[in-house]
Amino acid sequence: MNESPSRPLTQLSEDEEMLRDQVRQFAESEIRPLVSKMDKDAQIPRELINKCFELGIMGIEIPDRFGGTGATFFMSVLVVEELARVDASIAVLVDVQNTLVNNALLRFANDEQRARYFPKLASEWVGAYALSEAGAGSDAFALACRAEDKGDHYQLTGRKLWITNAGEAELFIVMATVDPRKGYKGITAFLVERSFPGFSVGKKEDKLGIRASSTAELILEGCPVPKHNVMGEVGKGYKIAIETLNEGRIGIGAQMVGVAQGALEHGLKYSQERVQFGKPIADFQAVQFLLAELATETEASRLLTYNAARRKDAGQDFIKEAAMAKLFSARAAEHVTSKVIEVYGGYGFTKDYPVEKYFRDQKVGHIYEGTSNMQLMVIAKQILGKM
Ligand SMILES: Cc1cc2nc3c(=O)[nH]c(=O)nc-3n(C[C@H](O)[C@H](O)[C@H](O)COP(=O)(O)OP(=O)(O)OC[C@H]3O[C@@H](n4cnc5c(N)ncnc54)[C@H](O)[C@@H]3O)c2cc1C
Repeated sequence: MNESPSRPLTQLSEDEEMLRDQVRQFAESEIRPLVSKMDKDAQIPRELINKCFELGIMGIEIPDRFGGTGATFFMSVLVVEELARVDASIAVLVDVQNTLVNNALLRFANDEQRARYFPKLASEWVGAYALSEAGAGSDAFALACRAEDKGDHYQLTGRKLWITNAGEAELFIVMATVDPRKGYKGITAFLVERSFPGFSVGKKEDKLGIRASSTAELILEGCPVPKHNVMGEVGKGYKIAIETLNEGRIGIGAQMVGVAQGALEHGLKYSQERVQFGKPIADFQAVQFLLAELATETEASRLLTYNAARRKDAGQDFIKEAAMAKLFSARAAEHVTSKVIEVYGGYGFTKDYPVEKYFRDQKVGHIYEGTSNMQLMVIAKQILGKM
């Protein structure tokens, strides 16, 4: 037998390890000191976003000829996990940029569109991905945003809701229908620049968690979009939406792994410092067992997430694995962050300590890029062979 020994899922290549360490150091030194203020202000400072660009983590998969890092999808996942360990808001900003916006352009934009937008997305432009509307959430293809053919351009009219990065973004992938009578087959993807006339960003949501990440409404009032800004084929936007979200949810899995890991590390440290009954609470078996359970759940969600990401990079089927990774990681993060608050006792319930923020930040993992019920539907379809 001269088969090469199989590689453990969590074993990182030299490049992966280097990137992980770089991002960890950045997160510890540049982000950690700002976390509480960003949460209070509900804002990520532009300088911090600029540093993400300088570090190359806003264009991880963008080919180097366009100024990107030219790395893998798995590397995006590693970066999102590391950022979320410290702050889930900056993690989702980077996640949407890489796993939704850049990823969609990589797969569906034409050469001219890539040449026009990738150098900007790798160096200064934040991107956003606009599918949801007030009346179209889980049922995303019920969207009502209209795109009327006006000869040399489309005119977009409607509203988008819940758009991550809307506060900072310069480029928006907007899903709109060219013909509502065609149902999902009318949906088309448009590349909309913030400066286009008739485009504006509306109300910013005041949220429970990931407060520093901007989530806002988009308003399109007869916004003209040149025909050369249609991404992919007219009427094939539904395919772009489904396929990018299938991949994007691995990034949300990674965000939840990072949130769980960050909270767990606080719990491990605090339990060895806090003394009750004359000894550190970590000396009590009940606390030890709890921490062991939480570490196991965190590791299991990491394995599911890494597996889904590595399968995607290897060109293997990953849809079921991605849905499982997101579903399980969101549940694990919910449990881990909740229990770490208990490890802290009363202190954990206050804003003077960092763990209540992890608890608030995890909740969205059950909601965006497909609610947990939607993940169960995807998994069920896959295992019952109903695709
Ligand atoms: C902070 C934040 C950021 C977001 N960022 C973006 C973004 O950048 N771009 C974007 O396009 N969208 C974004 N979203 C929107 C997000 O994707 C939607 O909120 C999500 O898809 C759920 O839609 P909904 O809120 O309308 O809930 P609904 O679809 O109304 O769901 C409500 C509940 O009903 C359940 N439900 C619905 N239908 C079914 C069914 N058939 N079977 C079983 N249960 C069902 C759901 O699971 C859920 O529990 C964001 C949302 C949030 C909160």
